[in-house]
Amino acid sequence: MDMDDNKRRRSMLIYVLIAIVVYLAVSQTLYPNLVSSQVTETSYSQFLEDVDNNKVVSAEIDTSNNEIKYTEGTGDSQKIYKTTAWPNDDTLATTLKDHGVDMTASIPDTSGDLWLYMLIAYGLPLVGLFLLGWWANRQMKKQMGDDGPSMNFGGGGFGMGGGLGVTFKDVAGQDEAKESLQEIVHFLKNPGKYNEIGAKCPRGALLVGPPGTGKTLLAKAVAGEAGVPFFQISGSEFVEMFVGRGAAKVRDLFKQAKEKAPCIVFIDEIDAVGKKRDMSINSNDEREQTLNQLLSEMDGFDNHKGIVVLAATNRPETLDPALLRPGRFDRRIPVELPDLAGREAILKIHANDVKMEHDIDLSVIARSTPGASGADLANIINEAALRAVRYGRNRVSQEDLEESVDVVIAGEKKKSTVLSEHEKEVVAYHETGHAIVAAMQTGSAPVQKITIVPRTSGALGFTMQVEEDQHFLTTRKEAKDKIAVLCGGRAAEELIFGEMTTGASNDIEKATQIARAMVTQYGMSDKFGMVALGQQRSRYLGGGAELTCSEGTAQEVDAEVQALVEEGHTQAMETLKANRFKLHEIAHYLQKKETITGEEFMKMLKRDDGFAPQFSAQSAQ
Ligand code: ADP
Ligand code: MG
Ligand code: ZN
Repeated sequence: MDMDDNKRRRSMLIYVLIAIVVYLAVSQTLYPNLVSSQVTETSYSQFLEDVDNNKVVSAEIDTSNNEIKYTEGTGDSQKIYKTTAWPNDDTLATTLKDHGVDMTASIPDTSGDLWLYMLIAYGLPLVGLFLLGWWANRQMKKQMGDDGPSMNFGGGGFGMGGGLGVTFKDVAGQDEAKESLQEIVHFLKNPGKYNEIGAKCPRGALLVGPPGTGKTLLAKAVAGEAGVPFFQISGSEFVEMFVGRGAAKVRDLFKQAKEKAPCIVFIDEIDAVGKKRDMSINSNDEREQTLNQLLSEMDGFDNHKGIVVLAATNRPETLDPALLRPGRFDRRIPVELPDLAGREAILKIHANDVKMEHDIDLSVIARSTPGASGADLANIINEAALRAVRYGRNRVSQEDLEESVDVVIAGEKKKSTVLSEHEKEVVAYHETGHAIVAAMQTGSAPVQKITIVPRTSGALGFTMQVEEDQHFLTTRKEAKDKIAVLCGGRAAEELIFGEMTTGASNDIEKATQIARAMVTQYGMSDKFGMVALGQQRSRYLGGGAELTCSEGTAQEVDAEVQALVEEGHTQAMETLKANRFKLHEIAHYLQKKETITGEEFMKMLKRDDGFAPQFSAQSAQ
C-alpha cells in the first residue's frame, strides 16, 4: 500500500515539475516575443511629434502605469507603440483632440478582475499541462498493461517492464493462488525485513494449471502489486530463438535481474526447457545445457536483494525433479479452471472493458460455460462486442453474449454449408433425440438450446445443456445418464430412418471416454470395483488415461466399456421409442425454425396432446 502511494506521489511530483518547466519556457519565450513583436516603445517627444504629423489614430492612457499606448495607420499597416506619459501634461488632451485622435483612458479595475485575469492567464495553461501529463501517464500505463513493454537489452530479447499496470484486482477468482503469492509480494516489497530475522523467502514458485487460466496474468500481477521490474521469457524462445545460445541467455537474464533487484523473473512454459533429462538417444544437448544453467543460476543468486523466479507450466509431470528440489521451484501454486462464481467474476472484469446494455445477466453466461478457462471467457466477451459492431449497435446485448458462447464452444456459424432438406431432417431428429433423452432423465442438466445451424468447427448442430448449479461430484447414475444422452442422437437416427450417419462420431468419442474413465479411474464398474487400471496422461491438458494393467485385463476393460456404452444406447432407444410422437413433432418444428430454446422445447414436450411424455422403464427407476 505505502509503496503504491509513494510511487504515485513521486510521479505526481515529476508531472508538476515538468509542467512548471514547460510553463516557464512558454511564458519566457513566447509571450514577450508576441508582445514585443507588436508593440514598439518610443519616447514621449516622438509620440507628440507623431500626433503633430497626424499619424496617430487612437491613444489609450493607462493612468495606473502612466503609460500611453497608441496606434498608427489602419488595417494591415496598423502599428502599436507604447510610451511613458509625461507627468501632469495638461495640454495633451486638447492636442489630441485637435488632431482628431480617438482617446480612451483605462482606469485600473478592482483587484477581483485582476485575479480573474491572473487565473486565466497563468492558471489555465498550468491546469492544461497537468491534465495532459496525467492523460499521457494513463495511456502509458494502459499500454504497458496490455502486452507488457518489450524493451530489448543489448539484443537480449527479454521482455521487461515496470509495474505493468496489472494487479491482483485484474485477476478474478484464484483466491488460493493469490494468497500463496501474497507472501512473495510482501518479500519483494521489503526484502530487508526478511533478512533481519534470517528468514529465507522462496526463490521460485511454479504456477501450474491448464492453459488460459491466468498464470501469466498472475505473475504480472505479482510484479504490479510489489511494484518491481518484471523480466519475462518463454521457455519455447530458448528452443526456437536462442538456438545454441540458451545457456548464455539464461546467464544474461539473471545478470540483468541481479542489477535490477528486487524484481521478478518469469519463465513461461518452463516445460520446454525443463523436461526430464533422460538417457534416450535423441536427448537434446542444447536443452540440457540450458536447463543446467538455469539450475545453477537459481542456486547461485543472492536472495538478500529480492529476486523471485516464477515459472508457469501446464505439464508439471514432465518437469525434471531437479527443478522442483527445495531452494528452486519448491513451491507449487495450482491455478485451476474457474468455478461458477469464478467464471462470473472473470466475465465481470472483462465486461468492464466494453459497453453493455443495462439488463445483462452474466450469471446465465457463467452457468452455460462449465469448463471454460479465463481466456475463453475473455474471448466470449470480445466476440460479443465484435458481433455488436457487426450489427451496427453500440452496446453489447444479452443475445450477443449468448451467441458468442456458441461461437467459442462450437465455432462460428457457417453460412456456406448448405444442407439438403433431407440432411437437415436427419440432423433435426438427431439433436431432438439428444434433447428428449436428456429431458426424460433426472440426472441430466436441463436443455438450454437446440440448434441445427452448421458451425465452422464441423458440427452440424448441437444441443446445449446447462447445469442449474455447480456440482463437483458426479454420481454413477449421472455418468450413465450422460452416456445415454450422448447415444440419443444416433438412436433417433436409427429409430426413424433405420440408418446410421457419420454425424454421431463426436458423441461416440465422448461416450466412450466417459465409460472408460468410469471403469479405469473411478472404480464404477461392477467387475473391477475400486481398482485403478489406468493413469492419467496429463492432468491439465486432457488426453485420457494410459492403461496400467496386464494385457488380459485390458481386454476385459474394453468389454466392460463396450457394455456400458451399449447400456446407454439401449436406454436412449427405449426412451425415444416411448416418446416417438414427441420426437416427430419437435424434430419437424426444429427443422423449420433451426434454433429453439429450452423453454420452447419443454413446453412442446410437456403439452398434453394425447402424447404426454413417457418415461422409459429404465430411466424411471
Ligand atoms: P495462461 O498463462 O494460464 O495460459 P493467461 O494468463 O495468458 O493464461 O490468460 C490469458 C487471458 O485470459 C488473460 O490475459 C486474461 O484476459 C484472461 N484471464 C485468464 N484468467 C483470468 C482471471 N482469473 N481473471 C481475469 N482474466 C483472466
Ligand atoms: Mg501463459
Ligand atoms: Zn450428437
